[in-house]
Amino acid sequence: MKEKVLVTRSSMPQLEEYIEEISDIWETHWLTNMGSKHKKLQEELREYLGIENIELLTNGHMALELSMQAMNLKGEVITTPFTFASTTHAIVRNGLTPVFCDINPIDFTIDTSKIEALITDKTCAIIPVHVYGNICNVEEIERIAKKYGLKVIYDAAHTFGVRYKNNCIGSYGDASCFSFHATKVFNTIEGGAVCYKDLDFGKALYRLKNFGIKDQETVDGVGANAKMNEFCAAMGLCNLKHIDEEINKRKQVVERYRSHLLGVEGIQLNPIQKDVTPNYSYFPIIINEKVFGSTRNEVFERLASEGIVARKYFYPLTNTFDCFHGQFDSSLTPIALHISKRVLTLPLYADLNLECVDNICKIILSMKNNKILD
Ligand SMILES: *Cc1c(COP(=O)(O)O)cnc(C)c1O
Repeated sequence: MKEKVLVTRSSMPQLEEYIEEISDIWETHWLTNMGSKHKKLQEELREYLGIENIELLTNGHMALELSMQAMNLKGEVITTPFTFASTTHAIVRNGLTPVFCDINPIDFTIDTSKIEALITDKTCAIIPVHVYGNICNVEEIERIAKKYGLKVIYDAAHTFGVRYKNNCIGSYGDASCFSFHATKVFNTIEGGAVCYKDLDFGKALYRLKNFGIKDQETVDGVGANAKMNEFCAAMGLCNLKHIDEEINKRKQVVERYRSHLLGVEGIQLNPIQKDVTPNYSYFPIIINEKVFGSTRNEVFERLASEGIVARKYFYPLTNTFDCFHGQFDSSLTPIALHISKRVLTLPLYADLNLECVDNICKIILSMKNNKILD
């Protein structure tokens, strides 16, 4: 049987490289609690990304959850439902009310022309998502946030290494939350980080990731435990050495996909955004079944029958989750609803071979005008 092709495959350094990186842990016996690997990774990320302040955490979800807590947000936040469960859950777990704004149909990020109509006297923040590595309209979001005195926390889980006008994408907003999960462009096995501007926020975040402990005799916040351990930080140090090469390999894969699928009627591709240095994190396609002739689900099933695992990412919308039954109305975010029913994220990782991409595209293209030909 042919080997299955999964939607992603985690980047890993050579085993010897990782062993070398962790070997001194056997001398120090320092496994976690902001040890030398943690400090070194923080320093190297600051340099690689070209940003001032970064805090490391156990994962991207805790980055979001604790950032909201550190800002002491109360009331409503404006966000989008076209995202991973984490964004909405972090909001709700902070006792905040998500107010869902629709997305734009071009890059799938928040439609900034619809934000202002959703602002009430309870609104405290905007929590937009940089989707698939596409960046939000950061300038317009900044203008709105300033005008109404709102905080901005970006879910930047998809955008490690992305730059806008040559600035790290993490330098926009009050905070930007990255995920270093195994499936992301840069991984620390599990991990995450927050880039931020305000140093008091940084201190609050640091305490919250360590139980709210200020010093040995003072606990001034109801914190969590979200410290990145030394083994994860070591994985990050190794992976960071190869990140440019990894992103470049992803670029080759993306270009191969585009060479087959660009201009195919009924298939919409991710846009190439102006002034953005991309990270090639995902390859979503939007299948307009009326034009293409097959539905997203039919393409998904057909690929699966050939051992190719694509993902309906993001489907369903977070505002339709069972856990929120009856609380939100997804018809108020019609574009997000439309896209989520038609999106398919194709396999993409650094070592995906190009013949495999050719094969995936061949299968997809064989389904064009399926109904008419049959
Ligand atoms: C991966 C992801 C997260 C959560 O990150 P973890 O590190 O897995 O906790 C949050 N938001 C989005 C959009 C993600 O893709």
